Amino acid sequence: MENENRDTAGHPALRPDPRFLRQYRSRLQELAGGQAPVALFIGCSDSRVTPEMLFGLDPGQWFMLRNVGNIVPPYAQTEIGIASVLEYAVQILQVEQIIVCGHTDCGAMQGLVQGVALSRHPALARWLDVARPALATVDAHPSDFSGDEHHHALVTENVRLQLSHLESYPYIRQAVTAGRLALRGCVYNLGEQAVEIVTG
Ligand SMILES: [Zn+2]
Repeated sequence: MENENRDTAGHPALRPDPRFLRQYRSRLQELAGGQAPVALFIGCSDSRVTPEMLFGLDPGQWFMLRNVGNIVPPYAQTEIGIASVLEYAVQILQVEQIIVCGHTDCGAMQGLVQGVALSRHPALARWLDVARPALATVDAHPSDFSGDEHHHALVTENVRLQLSHLESYPYIRQAVTAGRLALRGCVYNLGEQAVEIVTG
């Protein structure tokens, strides 16, 4: 399988999968002139988080944003790359839902707990700071969590935090209030191959 996906120089091949083209040829032709996705998915860059495969999506269904830790800075500390995706999805594409999806064994959340050296990984350290309030929330309740339970609680709380950050964008809050947009959270449990819905 590994070899099938490599080119003659041994690099990961940049060619369409023939099975994908066979399955979706007519759909891809329909979509060639435009898209109308119903949702924006915000997930982690982790290679094991594969929303199209996990949720059985066809091309054109969900707009995608993936970054380290499925993080959305709040409006007050807006980051132009992320803010552009939100504006495009909500104001231009007018998606019906924004889904924030965390996952178990998340290296970003582990980095938040263990600390990332600002001197060695300056961007990563500053980026993870956006999620730090989730760690504070989890640790505010003294508990006898095991390491795994603490990680799971942090992953879940980070999803809640990013959903609250989304609501700090005025046009998102307006769309939610008007009933045009729903915000949803979930956690992909890699070990159990299950998706848990995150409630408020
Ligand atoms: Zn992750």
